[in-house]
Amino acid sequence: MLLYPPMDVLRLGPIGVTNSIWQQKTHKFPMAQQIKILVVGGGPAGMMAAIVAARRGAYVTLVERMPKVGKKLLATGAGQCNLCNTKPTQRNYHGNDTDFMMPALASFGADTALTFFDALGIEVREVEHGRVFPITGQASNVLDVLRFEMSMLGIREVTDVKIQDVQTTDKGFLSISSDGEQFKSDKVVIAAGGTSSPNLGSNGGGYKIASALGHTVTHTFPSRVPLVLDTWFLARLKGVKVRDAGISSFVDGELQRRSVGDLLFADYGISGPPVLNVSRTIGEFERSDRELSVAIDLFPEETMESMEALIRKRIAHAPYKDLEVCLIGLLHKRLIPVLFAEAGQEDLKQLCGNLDDGEVKRLVGILKDWRVPCTATKSWMNSQVTAGGVDVSEVDPLTMQSQLVPGLYFAGEVLDIDGDCGGYNLQWAWSSGYTAGTHASSHL
Ligand SMILES: Cc1cc2nc3c(=O)[nH]c(=O)nc-3n(C[C@H](O)[C@H](O)[C@H](O)COP(=O)(O)OP(=O)(O)OC[C@H]3O[C@@H](n4cnc5c(N)ncnc54)[C@H](O)[C@@H]3O)c2cc1C
Repeated sequence: MLLYPPMDVLRLGPIGVTNSIWQQKTHKFPMAQQIKILVVGGGPAGMMAAIVAARRGAYVTLVERMPKVGKKLLATGAGQCNLCNTKPTQRNYHGNDTDFMMPALASFGADTALTFFDALGIEVREVEHGRVFPITGQASNVLDVLRFEMSMLGIREVTDVKIQDVQTTDKGFLSISSDGEQFKSDKVVIAAGGTSSPNLGSNGGGYKIASALGHTVTHTFPSRVPLVLDTWFLARLKGVKVRDAGISSFVDGELQRRSVGDLLFADYGISGPPVLNVSRTIGEFERSDRELSVAIDLFPEETMESMEALIRKRIAHAPYKDLEVCLIGLLHKRLIPVLFAEAGQEDLKQLCGNLDDGEVKRLVGILKDWRVPCTATKSWMNSQVTAGGVDVSEVDPLTMQSQLVPGLYFAGEVLDIDGDCGGYNLQWAWSSGYTAGTHASSHL
């Protein structure tokens, strides 16, 4: 069992017998002995699986339904590609059984991913919270080197073709496209992604193929997605950005998740990395009759006490300022009337020095723990990641092979694993793609 990657798989180019154009120039080799692998989906997971399998000598065809591979990869990290995270832990991942992913993360973690991309020519920089980006800030660089490596390895890239059906045969698999094109292979890797951002390629097709082959697909819902709030002030705050705000999600008043980062108000609700990070619980309970809400902490570095002391100091320093003016310099100007209204103060012309003790405490309560009812997540189109997917209890965590259909493998977001913002999802795509590609190309 290959738990740790043999370093030659991380080196550039092919190893062993392969269909590489490098080796085709110099060697004759027995193509008939090669394992034929069909990879369904040209996203990060599929490309990684294809490259690793081809380096190990397999004959690989990768089929992508979009005109080009890697469309979603190009959109990652706002076009800058948060390639991976140097501190991935199980807590950064979600799904029915996150233990499932640990062997893949152990065999191809952040260090190995960085070695892999370094060999392909990608120089990286690490920023806060272990997030890693190419130093050029261009996701397209990552796609370019992956595509170049695929072409050097002779991987057959078939685009604009959607695999509709995968059938088992006496000799392996027969995969049929929506146009009736047929692909015979010994093994199949399903790396068709989830349902999020269907405009970038993945639209749930992988789940249909998996179900037809007998796999269970758990309840799927949009994750890493903006939240729709049920409140009066959104039109007034549209476009307001707050640096380093704390966002917490609540179900029936019970704290679920908390995250800190830049918050953006929109006409429908809120967005930004901390919102995407806590959105999963809202998606999970959206269709239930549970009461959903978020709490916004505009000053997560302050305690209630230090916040109150700060507000009292400002009031004592300039008690003659009216409410509209007294918080200028502390908060975004458009937030001030909304926050006072939420704290029960409609008359903004009154002097701040006239606020009584209870009124100051109510204002501090809003600044630190601003509860707002939440109705829903935005749609699949606005979501970055799909929660739920192919039930991992039916997949071998050491190989990514189906426990129901020998020779069938899964990689990436199609599985019931989703990660937080910060490079964790691409890391999962690399790790699971590596594992699937390694074992699909094994003769055993
Ligand atoms: C806007 C945005 C920003 C993101 N930013 C980051 C980030 O910075 N860091 C991070 O870690 N994660 C990020 N993510 C999440 C990350 O992109 C995904 O988790 C990752 O791409 C999943 O890889 P995958 O290969 O499993 O699936 P995908 O990238 O979805 O690739 C699957 C591919 O399969 C193809 N396909 C689907 N069905 C078929 C079929 N039937 N036949 C043929 N082909 C098919 C699709 O067209 C697609 O190209 C972001 C996501 C979005 C939407």
